[in-house]
Amino acid sequence: MIDLHCHLDLYPQPSAIVEECARRNMYVLSVTTTPSAWKGTSALAAGNERIRTAIGLHPQLAQQRKGELAQFDELVHETRYVGEIGLDGTPECKPFWEDQMVVFEHILQTCARAGGHILSIHSRRAEKDVLVLLERNRTAGTPILHWFSGSLRSLEQAIRLDCWYSVGPAMLRSQKGRELVGRMPPDRVLTETDGPFAMFSDRAIQPWDVADAVNRLAEIWQLTVQKVEQRLASNLRLLVQNEQPRS
Ligand code: MN
Repeated sequence: MIDLHCHLDLYPQPSAIVEECARRNMYVLSVTTTPSAWKGTSALAAGNERIRTAIGLHPQLAQQRKGELAQFDELVHETRYVGEIGLDGTPECKPFWEDQMVVFEHILQTCARAGGHILSIHSRRAEKDVLVLLERNRTAGTPILHWFSGSLRSLEQAIRLDCWYSVGPAMLRSQKGRELVGRMPPDRVLTETDGPFAMFSDRAIQPWDVADAVNRLAEIWQLTVQKVEQRLASNLRLLVQNEQPRS
């Protein structure tokens, strides 16, 4: 199983979650919301080759944590993965939109100078601007739109930019989410939970709950669960191979 967007460090007992992921042989992209969280969060995954830790600066924290961009620029050389980054256009975050734009574009430019990263991107109510910045910074790396909830027209634009998508149980429960996923190129789709923020049956979702997304994908793609798992595994290999190995 693959959880390509999970906040391991934000669970009440992160080490118990890490242990269970290891027991289940899960592949996890552990994303962070601030550069200063990266070291501690990557230590959680020490010794587990299947858990990778991304360095991020969440758009909701852009105003508060923009002072950590210098730290981002230093630490970005220690990992191939960047996230959670992006833009958030909801009313709570609109007041510091300028800061969000500065932070997101700074990060994309840093990634481009560093040779390109795998990017896990938040685009809630901001997908048009996210896509404009991705188009302007194509050498930043391989963008993965996490929990994409934009319009079909924006999805078409994302497809033109050869974006990837990580989709989870919460997204696949909605009709609109399923419609979007049905139009995504199947070889660009991976699974995620966005735990512990997303909910699953009235509790915080856990990485292995991605099994539910696999079942939903089987319905959408009209494939067996086993075939879906094979496709996701080959997508993950492709994603990781796409990127130049870092020294
Ligand atoms: Mn998230």
